[in-house]
Amino acid sequence: MATQETERTQTVKNFETNAGARIFQIPMEAFPSFWVYTYLVLVDDYRVLIDTGSNFRNSNEDLENGLKSISKQIGESIGFNELTHVFITHGHIDHFGGLAYVKPRTQAKIGIHSLDRRNLTNYEERLVVVSKRMDNYFMGSGVKPERVQKLRDLYMLSKALYSSVEVDFTYDEEGMEIGPFKMLHVPGHTAGIVVIRLHDILFSADHVISGISPHQAPESLTLNTGLGHYLDSLIAVREWAADVRLTLGSHKKPIDDLPARVDEIRGEHAKRLSKVMEYLAEPHTIAEVSQDLFGEVSGYNVLLALEEAGAHVEYLYQRGLLGIDNLQEIGESEKIIPIRYLRLGEGNDITKLLP
Ligand SMILES: [Zn+2]
Ligand SMILES: [Zn+2]
Repeated sequence: MATQETERTQTVKNFETNAGARIFQIPMEAFPSFWVYTYLVLVDDYRVLIDTGSNFRNSNEDLENGLKSISKQIGESIGFNELTHVFITHGHIDHFGGLAYVKPRTQAKIGIHSLDRRNLTNYEERLVVVSKRMDNYFMGSGVKPERVQKLRDLYMLSKALYSSVEVDFTYDEEGMEIGPFKMLHVPGHTAGIVVIRLHDILFSADHVISGISPHQAPESLTLNTGLGHYLDSLIAVREWAADVRLTLGSHKKPIDDLPARVDEIRGEHAKRLSKVMEYLAEPHTIAEVSQDLFGEVSGYNVLLALEEAGAHVEYLYQRGLLGIDNLQEIGESEKIIPIRYLRLGEGNDITKLLP
């Protein structure tokens, strides 16, 4: 949940792996003032695009311009025609939305992890299913009904951005390895998110980002997401990619010290969990927890803050540290009653709890 500090003046940046693979970072404005990076990678006979932007307004134009400027720079035409593969890191619209634009223009094989596959291939269905789940979640979180309606409308705005496309392969079917690229499944931020390693460089997608902690939502909305999976996946990537020289995220700046950044993010969640435990010495709803953690927010950030708060409450509840204060009221009502969570005991040392 963050905005990017960059402006429209951002240009393509180049990187090179220790084995000579060439990497081009293309900045794209996925949403107004929200930037995402797509990477073009040239290695052996592979011409790979990692992610595609959002398909919103400037996004496709930014991609086209990026490819043009790379072609000029290397004196060789690299367009959608020349691509051999499109690797999608995860099923969020700022990363795969542009597929609706790229797919009709390329023969490249499109890949995703199987647990995020439906986001790309059954998009319309998923929006309906998830928005229903969100309605229930927001009602149970203590969000006022008129606000629930507003949040649903916001969520459904993305419907116009994309229409389902078929994919050609999944990483897991391919043994998590395609040519010199190696994938690691790091569930949490989404169910099927992967990081991709090429030689001594790691593409960390939205799993590890510089400066901000990647967004978390409760697993009750989508299986295999949630803070528990995410924290496990942080440990996994720290081990798997301990020796990478450089980490390139999908947002924000490159990361020089991956293990240190992983530990910072774990620290941020530990702090947030402790704050929730403290606040829940008195019973509160998730909407109130969200307010306590993030204060007054507006627009889409309301939705993100409610999800983030819910992910932390869920994590503590799953581990037996929270109870429900108004259980009887909930049980007796026909309607969805906001759940009031309450800390059990005196509160624990959260750092001991983290994987
Ligand atoms: Zn994401
Ligand atoms: Zn993203």
